[in-house]
Amino acid sequence: AAKADGKNRLAAYEPRLAIERHEHMRLSAELRRAVAEDEFVVNYQPVVDLSTGRVTAVEALLRWSPGGRPVPPLEFIPIAEQYGLIVPIGAWVLRQACKDVRTWYERFGISVTVNVSGRQLREPDFASVVLGALREAGLPGEALILEITETVLVSSTADADHVTALLSTVRAEGVRIAVDDFGTGYSSLAYLRHLPVDILKIDRAFTPEGGMAEEMAFTRAIVELGNSLRLSSIAEAVETPEQAERLRQLDCHLAQGYHFSRPLPVGDLDAVLTSRNGVLDGASLLS
Ligand code: C2E
Ligand code: MG
Ligand code: MG
Ligand code: MG
Repeated sequence: AAKADGKNRLAAYEPRLAIERHEHMRLSAELRRAVAEDEFVVNYQPVVDLSTGRVTAVEALLRWSPGGRPVPPLEFIPIAEQYGLIVPIGAWVLRQACKDVRTWYERFGISVTVNVSGRQLREPDFASVVLGALREAGLPGEALILEITETVLVSSTADADHVTALLSTVRAEGVRIAVDDFGTGYSSLAYLRHLPVDILKIDRAFTPEGGMAEEMAFTRAIVELGNSLRLSSIAEAVETPEQAERLRQLDCHLAQGYHFSRPLPVGDLDAVLTSRNGVLDGASLLS
């Protein structure tokens, strides 16, 4: 059904979109093959406690390189969503991420945070997919965080009651919910009052670049909102020691970004965590 919908929507294309459409069809066919042939890889990027350097979580980021050429997630994930392929792919990411984090959770208390698309949330069996992935890996719910973008959380296309019930079900098992790309998606904050969430991931748009008063004011306001609602805040895309220091001064407790580490293949990150005993203070850049 998803496929037929997609075709109808694309039927009335303009000539200048023909190439784009062709590329789109080609990617969706390749994605279908990639699902069947298990061609995806998950990389992990540390989330670091700004006062101790301790890695508290790792974000699972999907990687796909058909024929050795990497395709950015922002190109293939929207297509996977449109054709419903994100449902099997997303379930695979959840199982893989839970499996991969198991020893890090046991050795260092590191949780894994997994991006979830709106399409997955609307699947009636999503809660059992999540809890099944945990059970299969022998992990408690506390080891898993689900990242949902602000836009998806508040969009009218997702049935609000269904989403609230779903989040409550997994939270009852200890799973935490993070609002991804916080601050860019929606003009009203009212949803934060009734949606069960635990963490704000502050969009990179609010990671202070140069320490100017005005941009610092936005960052401070968001961090204070999170702190006063007793939510943890994770700053995204922290690239320099100065940014990390400014965030620390604003009382933001957690951050991720190239300053600490790029997303790494599981074996590479395992070597880093082992050699540094789970602490990354950003003193030496990892690339
Ligand atoms: P996101 O969830 O907001 O992920 C953060 C993105 O920022 C990642 O891009 C990461 O590589 C990048 N990043 C991390 N640190 C820095 C930094 O210091 N500077 C800069 N400039 N960028 C940084 P990536 O891996 O290309 O993923 C892009 C988006 O694709 C993600 O944004 C997420 O929305 C989506 N995505 C990735 N994996 C999955 C997945 O398994 N499922 C779903 N549904 N979406 C995914
Ligand atoms: Mg994310
Ligand atoms: Mg994000
Ligand atoms: Mg983002």
